[in-house]
Amino acid sequence: MSGRILVIEDDADLAGMLDRVLRDEGYAVKLAADGHTGLHVGLTRPFDAMIVDRGLPAVEGLDLIARLRGRGVGTPILVLSARNSTEDRVEGLDAGAEDYLTKPFELTELLARLRALLRRHLDHAGQLAVPGGLLDLSTRTVQRTAGGRVELSEREAALLGLLAARPGVVFSRADLLDRVFDDAESETVVDTYVHYCRRKLGQGVISTVRGLGYRLGGA
Ligand code: CA
Repeated sequence: MSGRILVIEDDADLAGMLDRVLRDEGYAVKLAADGHTGLHVGLTRPFDAMIVDRGLPAVEGLDLIARLRGRGVGTPILVLSARNSTEDRVEGLDAGAEDYLTKPFELTELLARLRALLRRHLDHAGQLAVPGGLLDLSTRTVQRTAGGRVELSEREAALLGLLAARPGVVFSRADLLDRVFDDAESETVVDTYVHYCRRKLGQGVISTVRGLGYRLGGA
């Protein structure tokens, strides 16, 4: 998998190791050693994903993420943290991160989570057409053509975003499970979230292709 990754980490050893490992995997890597630099680089250059340490000098990690989000940067972010309470994870996700990994971590897990983030992030340029409106992945809302906004959960938006990024393509339930619901066990979770999307946006938003899976509705 390829992609441009911004790593904001003040631990020089860890940053150096991430730099080597990510480059070996084929990513283009940019390092920032403090929150101020990271914020500047994150606001002024395009990336496909960011890895952000929570404890950073100058601008603290979650503050940095909130500022990026506040300026409309929708790039998916994985937070690295030494803290491991549910509260800390919730804080990280609430600040606008997509994923949260506790130190110490296995590199294989970091790489797997990064791949998952990048797969979900098929179009961070902004808006994707869906039947009856426009999906904005950065705010996880659908602006309806008829007026009004519909808010989606993270997984609803990820599911709909994946389908909307490839209109006309039929995704199998196994494929959707793998791409959107990495830690889930059963393909029925896909059906459940299709149901949620239809309930919020109308039956026609996602089409069932019998025996094959789902695709974006309409066409
Ligand atoms: Ca740190």
